[in-house]
Amino acid sequence: MILHPPTTATTEVVLAQLEARLHGRLLRPADADYDGARRLWNGMIDRRPAAIVQCTGAADVTETVKFARQHGLLVTVRGRGHNIAGTAIADDALMIDLSLMNEVWVDPDERVAIVQPGANWGDVDRETQVFGLATPSGIVSTTGIAGLTLGGGFGWLSRQYGFTSDNLLSVDLVTADGEFLTASETENADLFWGLRGGGGNFGIVTSFRYRLHAVGPIVMAGLRLYPMDQADAVLRFYRDFSANAPDELGTLAVLRMAPAAPFLPKEIHGQPVVGIAVCYAGSVEDGERVVQPLKAFGTPVSDGISPKPYTQHQTLLDSGVPAGRHYYWKSEYLAGISDESIATLVHHAPQMTSPLTSVLLFQLGGAIRRFPEDASAASHRDAAYVLNIQSSWLDATEAGRHVAWTREFWAAVRPLAMGGVYVNFVGEDEGAERVKAAYDTEKLQRLAALKAQYDPTNFFRVNQNIQPAR
Ligand SMILES: Cc1cc2nc3c(=O)[nH]c(=O)nc-3n(C[C@H](O)[C@H](O)[C@H](O)COP(=O)(O)OP(=O)(O)OC[C@H]3O[C@@H](n4cnc5c(N)ncnc54)[C@H](O)[C@@H]3O)c2cc1C
Repeated sequence: MILHPPTTATTEVVLAQLEARLHGRLLRPADADYDGARRLWNGMIDRRPAAIVQCTGAADVTETVKFARQHGLLVTVRGRGHNIAGTAIADDALMIDLSLMNEVWVDPDERVAIVQPGANWGDVDRETQVFGLATPSGIVSTTGIAGLTLGGGFGWLSRQYGFTSDNLLSVDLVTADGEFLTASETENADLFWGLRGGGGNFGIVTSFRYRLHAVGPIVMAGLRLYPMDQADAVLRFYRDFSANAPDELGTLAVLRMAPAAPFLPKEIHGQPVVGIAVCYAGSVEDGERVVQPLKAFGTPVSDGISPKPYTQHQTLLDSGVPAGRHYYWKSEYLAGISDESIATLVHHAPQMTSPLTSVLLFQLGGAIRRFPEDASAASHRDAAYVLNIQSSWLDATEAGRHVAWTREFWAAVRPLAMGGVYVNFVGEDEGAERVKAAYDTEKLQRLAALKAQYDPTNFFRVNQNIQPAR
């Protein structure tokens, strides 16, 4: 049952019963904070849940799951609402909003962080960097830790330390029947395997325990930009530079119009640029030596690669992807950067239809590849790069042309790509087959069996869904 129409007396009676069981708030469509709470990072997603439960702890989550189950309500789960497909929300459903649960606790001696599911990576970096510690995260600090970790997760430190989920020590979660479980390598190990890559299919995680590593607090990192008309030469350089990079170096190439970011010279704002960004996870001195070939390459229009706080570098790309704009992405894995891939990027990127759009080529490999492929449900460890064509615009009526450009670019790239996809980059319009492409057949079967064991009725189904095995 969905709560529809949301204003009927029956619905109100049901919601009032749930409200009485909560410490957190229950927001109805008429409440002042409802509109703000239903907004996600992607402004294209405009859905109206019947109600929003703003949980303050695991007890609220458990109560809500039990209640929704008892009343046959459709639920959705929201961490920080950054999923491109907007899976955190559905019309007329009950949204379980975890964003108020955003505490981070660090044990510097054990090098462990315990993080609640409503935190973002900026929250984690802030607390862990007090002790010069970090775990591999995403490259935008406002991204939610929960969805990212459960889908696998990668960022600047991943070539050195693996996927985010490779650094997960345990989770606490509430299952579809309201049971509270811990999953780790030694406790409910099969479930733990599936939670690291299988997304939000198996329950609602109420806390994540991460392994931390010594990083920074000062790292050699930043972005070096060249005019877009040099894209061919810059991408060729990037191919060789990144292929020879040590695992401590995270790298990406970007093609876009330079944003009006404070760290960029005013004269290049709005100009088409191609750039290489890096972050060296070891000492500043070693980092200086490793980035030297890049520092010596060509004549940049801006060079921001220098020693800086790791927390600062973690926010480098934030201003380019603010919440509320309209976004449409397509993504592919690449086994390498071929001449054809470079030609395709150089042809399509300069024709981007919006000045807010960006094309990112992010390097994987290193430690990600050294974990066995079956270490967890997180997949495609053999990919060398992930390409994201990220269209972004402000005016809703413009969607058609930006989506068309993205799809045309994507169609040109697909024959050059590996065929799979990162589950956290699957878009709203991509369907079940694309979700399957996020895993190989063996993993899909194992995930479906786990789903049948932990969520046989597919209670958690507003997500990149794994159907329970029959
Ligand atoms: C600007 C931007 C940058 C990004 N950069 C990276 C990157 O560098 N690396 C990377 O790996 N990914 C990246 N991503 C993708 C990111 O991993 C996903 O968008 C992820 O879903 C974000 O997590 P969230 O908690 O904010 O998601 P939400 O939108 O809140 O939730 C998405 C889904 O996750 C599940 N979920 C959320 N919380 C829980 C929970 N506590 N328990 C169970 N299930 C839950 C639910 O199924 C939910 O539908 C980026 C996304 C954006 C928008």
